[in-house]
Amino acid sequence: MRIAFSANNPWPFTNQANFTKPSSQCTTMTNKEILNRLYQVILPYKGKLIISMLTMVVFSALTSAQAWILKPVIDDIFVNKDSSVLALLPFAIILIFLFKAIAYYVYTFLLQFVGQSIIRDMRTRLFTHINTQPLSFFHEYPTGNLISRIISDVSQIQNAVSNALVSSLRDFFQMIFLLALVFYLNWKLAMFAFIILPIAIFPIVTLGRRFRKLSTRTQEETANVSDRLYENITGNRIVKAFCREDYEDKRFGFQIDRLFSVTIKDARLRSLQHPIMEFIGGLAIALIIWLGGKEVIAGSATPGTFFSFLGALIAAYEPVKALSKINPIIQRGLASANRVFTLMDIEPKITDKEGAISLPPFTRDIVFQDICFSYDNEDQVIHNLNLTVPRGEALAIVGSSGGGKTTLTNLIPRFLDIDSGSIAIDGKDIRDVTLASLRQQIAIVTQQTILFNDTVYNNIVYGDLEASAEDVRNAASAAFALDFVEKLPKGFDTIIGEGGARLSGGERQRISIARAILKNAPILILDEATSALDTESEREVQKALENLMKNKTTFVIAHRLSTIVNCDRIIVVKGGRIVEEGTHEELLARKGEYELLYNMQFK
Ligand code: ADP
Ligand code: MG
Repeated sequence: MRIAFSANNPWPFTNQANFTKPSSQCTTMTNKEILNRLYQVILPYKGKLIISMLTMVVFSALTSAQAWILKPVIDDIFVNKDSSVLALLPFAIILIFLFKAIAYYVYTFLLQFVGQSIIRDMRTRLFTHINTQPLSFFHEYPTGNLISRIISDVSQIQNAVSNALVSSLRDFFQMIFLLALVFYLNWKLAMFAFIILPIAIFPIVTLGRRFRKLSTRTQEETANVSDRLYENITGNRIVKAFCREDYEDKRFGFQIDRLFSVTIKDARLRSLQHPIMEFIGGLAIALIIWLGGKEVIAGSATPGTFFSFLGALIAAYEPVKALSKINPIIQRGLASANRVFTLMDIEPKITDKEGAISLPPFTRDIVFQDICFSYDNEDQVIHNLNLTVPRGEALAIVGSSGGGKTTLTNLIPRFLDIDSGSIAIDGKDIRDVTLASLRQQIAIVTQQTILFNDTVYNNIVYGDLEASAEDVRNAASAAFALDFVEKLPKGFDTIIGEGGARLSGGERQRISIARAILKNAPILILDEATSALDTESEREVQKALENLMKNKTTFVIAHRLSTIVNCDRIIVVKGGRIVEEGTHEELLARKGEYELLYNMQFK
């Protein structure tokens, strides 16, 4: 069954290649490396795992006892009609089943416990790990891909560890015990089982490799589906505005068909594996009945021995079949573990240097000396830029789009690190101080307000978790947000929706300004904080910003004249360089870049 969609060009409008996501960044580890890493993950639960494995051994031994007991049942009760055995055997059977039930409960529960603990640990570690990554990491890994790794891949690992890895141990023990019983009952017939066994194991091994490859692809395609979902859901307004529902449906359909086609390949292999195993089992049973039946008829074996033998052999085949079922799960787990560990191995590029000191409160100046920066080590975005900003200055950064204004301000809190030169606060290179102490002194308000789906109060208090309710109220008031917050259905306790979806643009901005006011950091970065707003809300936000800027050292990236004229100094950034600097009047008088901008943007 070929999937027509991927065979023909499914996409009449554009080149199909536009929809193929770059396959996710995944180096391949060897099985040994992966198992080693998994071992580290499991290590804290070693005790529970050992108890679970021991009870599993008990469980397996009792399963053999179940088969063995058929012998006295048939020989002593049904053939010899021995009533003393009849009095004892039912109790023995009850005991066997009782202990088996207890053993099952203990090992299953412990396994689940360990499995869920692994999920919790890995997800927590991944979450923390992702939070240590710099901005560039998030440019590289799409949101859906990351979510998919934390949710889906981690589940696959848990599945492999708690179901497969350990039940394969149980099945292994069970097989050993049952084969021992088979040998004890009739070693000649048992030899036969040893010829069948390798034949039965062969398909498991050969199919294993295919499963592994398919699993990696399945997880990659799942990640792509989750990327599409994420972008479609968060970008739904634009989808609607451009009437691109059909386009998105097709694009999603294309992606989901890719996932479907790898999943189907996997399903086909798995559907094939089971009947092959069953058929081999059937062959074995037919031969055993033929060989064993001859012995019983000839009188060299009792019927009890024969049924017990057959029971044990059929029971021994169950674990072999189970192993074949578990194989794809293990392969999937290994593929997912590879993806998860690859992600975990990405060293955060921007970290505290060894011996980093805490940055003392800002008092003097911020000095950019000869700084260069590029995103990809090729196209330089900031060129040998020099700038000194004394404490208390409000510096406006203007320039046409793409000039490097945002990039320049992202360098101050070290969201990105410069390639050469230095940025120093009070003479201390920002790479020599701790990230926490640096960022503690910087507040940021950007054009895209980032608010959380939480209450107004919690969004503001995010700026300083130790602040009192009164502080939060004062901050809201200084940000001119108090009026509208109090009119909300539940005031400060109103949940504002994802990204503040239930507020207007100006309201969102004032909440984010209140948050920055509460943080009360001496250095302030305003990146086009008012440019997304209409004139009415801009005026309100402007007043809020003036309160925020009081006694602060501020970098203001602005598109509006009203924001710029109040600044102490203006720099014009073009192509990653400062091309002009001065006050509004000085720059206008020069009749250069600034005048051009002024005529285009601000007038
Ligand atoms: P501005 O804020 O002045 O409009 P930016 O600082 O956002 O400009 O961008 C400066 C340059 O850097 C642009 O040419 C842009 O294409 C490039 N750039 C921005 N972000 C990235 C990124 N994450 N990866 C690669 N290049 C980028
Ligand atoms: Mg920008």
